[in-house]
Amino acid sequence: MISPVSEMPPYHSIALLPEHIANKIAAGEVIQRPASVIKELLENSLDAGAARITVVVKEGGTSYIQVGDDGGGMEESDARLAFLRHATSKITAVEDLEEIRTYGFRGEALASIAAVARVAMVTRRMGNDTAVALKVEGGGPLTVSREAREPGTTITVQNLFYNVPARRKFLKSPQTEFRHIHEAVERIALSRPDAAIDFLSDGEKILRLSGESLAERVIDLFGERQYGSMIEVREANELLTIHGFIGKPSFGRKTRAQQFLFLNRRFILNRNIAHAVYSGYEHLLEKGAFPFFLLFLEIDPRRVDVNVHPSKLEAKFEEEQAVHRMVHAMVRKALAVGGHAPGVSMAGEGDLGALRFDRRQHDWPRKPHETELPGGFQIVDTQTGEILGTGGARIAGTLLGPPAQAGPAVSTRGPEGQGEYQETGRIWQLHSKYILSQIKTGLLVVDQHVAHERILYERALKRLETGGRASQQLLFPTTVAVQAVVYSLLEELLPHLTGLGFEIKLFGKNTIVVEGVPPDVRAGSEERVLAEMLELYREYQKESPMDVRDNLAKSFACRAAVKAGDPLDEQEMRSLIDQLFATKMPYVCPHGRPVVLRIPLEELDRRFGRTS
Ligand code: ADP
Ligand code: MG
Repeated sequence: MISPVSEMPPYHSIALLPEHIANKIAAGEVIQRPASVIKELLENSLDAGAARITVVVKEGGTSYIQVGDDGGGMEESDARLAFLRHATSKITAVEDLEEIRTYGFRGEALASIAAVARVAMVTRRMGNDTAVALKVEGGGPLTVSREAREPGTTITVQNLFYNVPARRKFLKSPQTEFRHIHEAVERIALSRPDAAIDFLSDGEKILRLSGESLAERVIDLFGERQYGSMIEVREANELLTIHGFIGKPSFGRKTRAQQFLFLNRRFILNRNIAHAVYSGYEHLLEKGAFPFFLLFLEIDPRRVDVNVHPSKLEAKFEEEQAVHRMVHAMVRKALAVGGHAPGVSMAGEGDLGALRFDRRQHDWPRKPHETELPGGFQIVDTQTGEILGTGGARIAGTLLGPPAQAGPAVSTRGPEGQGEYQETGRIWQLHSKYILSQIKTGLLVVDQHVAHERILYERALKRLETGGRASQQLLFPTTVAVQAVVYSLLEELLPHLTGLGFEIKLFGKNTIVVEGVPPDVRAGSEERVLAEMLELYREYQKESPMDVRDNLAKSFACRAAVKAGDPLDEQEMRSLIDQLFATKMPYVCPHGRPVVLRIPLEELDRRFGRTS
């Protein structure tokens, strides 16, 4: 049946939206809140070459925003055009898009702001005698007059969203909007320390910044004390340069609020880079703490796409991988060289106190070979039922075993140490506990237990993550009686333990058979390592129940590693140091304890009163 004509859906012909409606729609993307207006106006002032900018807001910018500058100003004809959408002086050809060197380029900000607020602009072009004043409300017609003003531009924005009730309703309290504005001003202030910025809110002076160096600006914004806990970083390669500051590990923050990343002076958010920074700190930060960072990346603008989002917070660039690697290595080096990764200098600024030392886990050496193993383990000879102890252990199998497949391919070498160590290479063991080696700059001291722990930790973690099984079959599988709790823990962890390299059969009735162990486990210590590792694992689980793999890797590494008191021969020591410097983080053990101490010759000279 054919439906009658009257039931056909309504039909509308296509019409181009009038400019003022289009602007209002576009405004939604560019202007979310008063802080977006501030950001756009500040960027325009900087693009106009301003050296001094004044920002005035009232009621969190919801009623009044004014930004004045001493930049180049505009001719009247340009001022009239500035409020049109896609009106910009910053690009003229498509090729320019490939190489943006200004903050703005879309020509949308002023049009958007004017569409949703009452806007007044007074501008005087440098070299002209008078200023021109323009007013526009809600995208309506321009009114133009003359006024007096020094060269530069002042833009006043009142009653934001007065004609978009839905948006106006979504504005937060003036205090909240003020916080967003403050953040926006702070970001701009950091990106351009050379510009003087005054910031007033409801008649109160919030910031008064003179044009200055980056360090001075950082002090002005964060204070001397916080500046004192920053490490300056600088790194460059053919692709990019990075400079700025990172916080010392002792200065972890509770939130991400103090993380600033600028790409070619533009504030951006980028997970990849943030992750690279975090991973550089690895275990140096408290759980739940975020590092402070303020980093400026400069990349050839042709390699960056800033055009992915209208408010331009996200930036995409080529070679994300390379950038990640570089940032990660830079942070690690800064923490290590600056003495924040533990013990590089004897001068010790007290930073070590901030690291999470966990002495509890390092109560070695233990009483040798208790028959009653921790965690309810007993080793039983299946044939006779006799209770056995574990045999004495030698380390050779471990250290000289398969070369460390430590670290993924991207891992860089230990920033220093390795090279120096190889050059001279004299090596001693001190009290079966420390390895001493002569290096170019002085003396390298390595704690053998934690060094080995770091190596095993990374290896274990990798095995757990890739599931790349490597197991060393036992000639004589051992039957072990375990407590019920341990048995159920083993059941639960079996897949992980298998990944780690253990081959364990569960026989029920709290009996297990160990048929193979990871290659890092020394002959004779198999059951001890397994038992102690599970015990330690349970402790870690109490603290951080989510990190199953990390906890396993940590407890395995701790218990399988060489102990203080184990004598090492020269080859073993060399192998240990080589493998250590091939790890991702040679300077701290998985618990945050220092691994390496470097004592400079000058330090010794100083202590012996030698002046040269
Ligand atoms: P965009 O910054 O993307 O070019 P805007 O809408 O923000 O677009 O500004 C339009 C144009 O107005 C700019 O290209 C610039 O020529 C001019 N302009 C805006 N603000 C200022 C200012 N404070 N001083 C001088 N010129 C300005
Ligand atoms: Mg702009």
